[in-house]
Amino acid sequence: MPADLCPIRRFVRCRGIVCSLETLQDGFLSGKSNTEIGRQIQEAYGIEKRHAQFIARDQTAKLNADLTQSQQTDAGGSEYIWSDAGDNRVRPRHEQLNGKRFKWSEPPIVDENTGRRCHPGEDYNCRCVALPVFNIENLELPWEKSEN
Ligand SMILES: [Zn+2]
Repeated sequence: MPADLCPIRRFVRCRGIVCSLETLQDGFLSGKSNTEIGRQIQEAYGIEKRHAQFIARDQTAKLNADLTQSQQTDAGGSEYIWSDAGDNRVRPRHEQLNGKRFKWSEPPIVDENTGRRCHPGEDYNCRCVALPVFNIENLELPWEKSEN
């Protein structure tokens, strides 16, 4: 996995705190739990535990979403199906997107008031995921396609 997972986002601003993404990515890439990452953030920035844990949880989810996108697009997938967590904590708008198909190059509108767009898992505390959609014709497979 590349260290420059998301080169544009070097820092995250969250409730007035600017965190280096490296702290988050290092923890994430070395398989630390959200609690451990939160503790690191708390120590590094001298902020409240609750706040640090929130940043850890939220940013880990965003890194997971970035990773899903990289994995699917690297594998030749250009689209996905939005899949929500299926419980009563799902945002109404995300519930509307559930089961629908979107392009990685064109995230759907998640906020109809502002027109803000994002992929599953990128919204604050969002637990939605992107189920991969592959077009068999465009896939580069390590084996020959069957004739039937
Ligand atoms: Zn969601």
